[in-house]
Amino acid sequence: MASYDPQFTPEQVFMLQQEKALLLRSETVAMRINKLKSLKAWIREHSNDIRKAVFADLAKPYLETDITEISVILGEISHAIRHLPKWMKAKKVSNPMHFAGADCRIQYEPRGCALIISPWNYPFNLSIGPLVSAISAGCTVVLKPSELSPNTSALIKRMVSDLFAPNEVAVFQGEVEVAKALLALPFNHVFFTGSPQVGKEVMKSAAQHLCSVTLELGGKSPVVVDASCDLDDAALKIAWAKSINCGQTCIAPDYILVNGSVYQAFLEKLTAAFDQLLNPKGKGIAKSPDYARIINTTHWARLKQLLDEAVAGGGQIIFGGELDVTEKFLAPTVITGVDQGMRIMQEEIFGPILPIISYNGLDEAIAYINGNSKPLALYVFSKEKYVSDQLSVQTSCGALVENDCAVHFGHPNLPFGGVNVSGMGKAHGHFGFLAFSNEKAVFKQSTRFNPVKSLYPPYSIKKKKLISLFSKLS
Ligand code: NAD
Repeated sequence: MASYDPQFTPEQVFMLQQEKALLLRSETVAMRINKLKSLKAWIREHSNDIRKAVFADLAKPYLETDITEISVILGEISHAIRHLPKWMKAKKVSNPMHFAGADCRIQYEPRGCALIISPWNYPFNLSIGPLVSAISAGCTVVLKPSELSPNTSALIKRMVSDLFAPNEVAVFQGEVEVAKALLALPFNHVFFTGSPQVGKEVMKSAAQHLCSVTLELGGKSPVVVDASCDLDDAALKIAWAKSINCGQTCIAPDYILVNGSVYQAFLEKLTAAFDQLLNPKGKGIAKSPDYARIINTTHWARLKQLLDEAVAGGGQIIFGGELDVTEKFLAPTVITGVDQGMRIMQEEIFGPILPIISYNGLDEAIAYINGNSKPLALYVFSKEKYVSDQLSVQTSCGALVENDCAVHFGHPNLPFGGVNVSGMGKAHGHFGFLAFSNEKAVFKQSTRFNPVKSLYPPYSIKKKKLISLFSKLS
């Protein structure tokens, strides 16, 4: 059901924000930094409320919320505060010879009215991260958090009402029809995080207004485990990245390609790693206080179906497989014997199921990866430089991470985003600021010295010579 703010409809908020967006264009650095500081202070002051809300939605352990939702965002805000003066400053560019005398710069102006649509899996992080970028860039924001994480969405609404007037930042909670109603409005930029299927709908709606989009999407992120790597290290890092948030992470390892010569040894180390992380006392992962739950029974049933179909098709569960619908529990589950015809190898898993496939030569692994759409992240564990070099040159992805998984999300100086089906446009830090900014070209011609003027008609032999000189020198 739609649940619009009782005070304003989306159209009213949009009109108010259009007016405000004009005023925000002349904001100073200090004004934007003050907003970011208030946001930071609110988060610090209410971190226990954030932990409780995320726990109510995903049963996410408090410490995991601290790491993946709160500290990442505090870091994003601090980074923006530190660098905003530099980001906002117009950048002077050098001139070619024929523009000698001109004063040319790139000016970063706010795109204007922005719409942010976010998913449920990191409900605080993925709503507030883009908000930080939008505030840094000087945009107004309408934020539509996910209806599947209602506790965090309500908390975000409270936070925004505490900090901003609706003509600057407003939150509309609700289901798909709320998102559709918002997408019908002529926003200047839409920043969408979610599935590739919905991403297509968002792009279609944005096309009606030729509104620019950033699409942070998902897909299958593979891991290549080469024979040369430290298997203990690889197994532990993969098990960790697959366990956090119960595998419901856009950059979680989706499936693993393991060199055949270390296949058996790796499987043993991987299952031991899951036990080390989540079952140290042998009481069972269901009893672990450090393991989140599936968001709802619909997603739980989807994952069960994927697993059941894979097993019916000949897949073998070699670790995990325990399920409990009342708890929305699904243990980390390692499955072998899968093939490309199975749905589990076609769809993004987005849960704690981990298929393992053996490969012989690196070419085979590369062909497998290139047989699917370009991943959001590609992980490689190897001590051989040629392995990562070949993967880097012969495959395309949003991020190539060597000897670790998922950690790149927290790096403030790296762009975060996908390619084609896994997304378009980049987020985080300066890249997030740029996503919400228009890089305006400002060309100020010299009134005293203007070489271009010397080429105006009437054309003459002298001008012909001059243009051939320009062409030769450029
Ligand atoms: P989703 O696409 O179902 O929903 C995301 C948001 O879009 C929600 O707020 C939802 O209400 C809204 N929405 C749903 N249908 C819509 C429609 N027809 N028109 C407009 N808006 C609509 O995604 P989800 O289930 O919330 O999240 C899971 C997906 O998100 C996975 O594919 C995952 O990989 C991806 N994801 C990507 C990133 C990233 O940074 N690249 C991060 C997290 C999740």
